Amino acid sequence: MSWLRTELWTAEVVYTGFGTPMLRGALAVQGGFVVGQGSLEELRARFPQAEVVHKGRALFPPPVNAHTHLDLSLLPRYQGPFSGFIPHVVAHRERRGLEGVRRGLEELQAAGTGAFGDIVFKDEVMDFLLGESPLPGVAFYEVFAPDPQDAEAVFARVRAKVEAWRKREGRVRVGLSPHAPYSVSPPLLKRLAQYAREEGLPLMVHAAESLEEVAFLREGTGPLAEVHRRFSRTPFTPPGRTPVRHLHTLGVLGPTTLLVHGVHVDEEEVKLLAETGTKVVLCPRSNHNLQVGEAPLALYARHGVEFALGTDSRASSPDLDVRREALFLWDKVDPRLLVRALTRGGYRALGLPTPRITRGAPASLVHSL
Ligand SMILES: [Zn+2]
Repeated sequence: MSWLRTELWTAEVVYTGFGTPMLRGALAVQGGFVVGQGSLEELRARFPQAEVVHKGRALFPPPVNAHTHLDLSLLPRYQGPFSGFIPHVVAHRERRGLEGVRRGLEELQAAGTGAFGDIVFKDEVMDFLLGESPLPGVAFYEVFAPDPQDAEAVFARVRAKVEAWRKREGRVRVGLSPHAPYSVSPPLLKRLAQYAREEGLPLMVHAAESLEEVAFLREGTGPLAEVHRRFSRTPFTPPGRTPVRHLHTLGVLGPTTLLVHGVHVDEEEVKLLAETGTKVVLCPRSNHNLQVGEAPLALYARHGVEFALGTDSRASSPDLDVRREALFLWDKVDPRLLVRALTRGGYRALGLPTPRITRGAPASLVHSL
């Protein structure tokens, strides 16, 4: 009976969504369903007639793209120094919006994405995602307000919107995204973090992405000083601290905070992230395109920081297939960490349960790389 034919799917790393990802693991698949999982040797002994099928580098539950800007999906891709990126986005701002979001969601689905964390810049995008997203995730409402004089007014406006949106939460939940420590004033960062804590709202903040950001926060110098002048009437007073320390001082770090990029951090800051339970979302291909450097993966792993992967936007990344972020790093770190980051790390960062590949699970739940 051919439908009972068993295949043993194997890969360099096999992860069922729980426990530790296995090296030389396998899944037994029969009639479109998973009927066993374990080491390849173990399954060979249990299913001696089964055909062994090599599925590439990894097998795992649906991956999570923990950091997207779907509304930027129609922008041309920028490649060049970090300081040119914000001007690039501003120059193409008329191409931001719902059409890009729709295109981006299609791309996420085509890549088999199980959940996503999106930065939402326009109200109409939040309305759309809350009402119509086919995928679960968190839509983080972006706040960009560097002038401390605006802090109270911006906070009041953001809170009113978030309260209304939260009544419509379903498959997609609402989060807050103070854009970055250089583009949101300290009093507003503090206020938003406090509000998020009180309300149990997840926070996502871009931080420690570039050396320009570090120089600006420490000394008030570099190209970000120009960006700040453009958007703030009040002159900038540098806090004199690195991004992660600055955020910690303002109460922004914590278990429901996702720090995106985390490229320029020292060991003490990595410990701070671990101690506060802050999650990190790495976007290695975006970092490569914006020439900002590479995140210290080994340091994050050594201190047990939970990390996820994200593509960032189509404006700085070639596509929205988060599996390619793992591929990009494949030879740089223990690949089991990457497979975990793609799945469990991502679901945990977004506060969602990780789908499990157990006996009886449909084979369609199994994704590969
Ligand atoms: Zn981003």
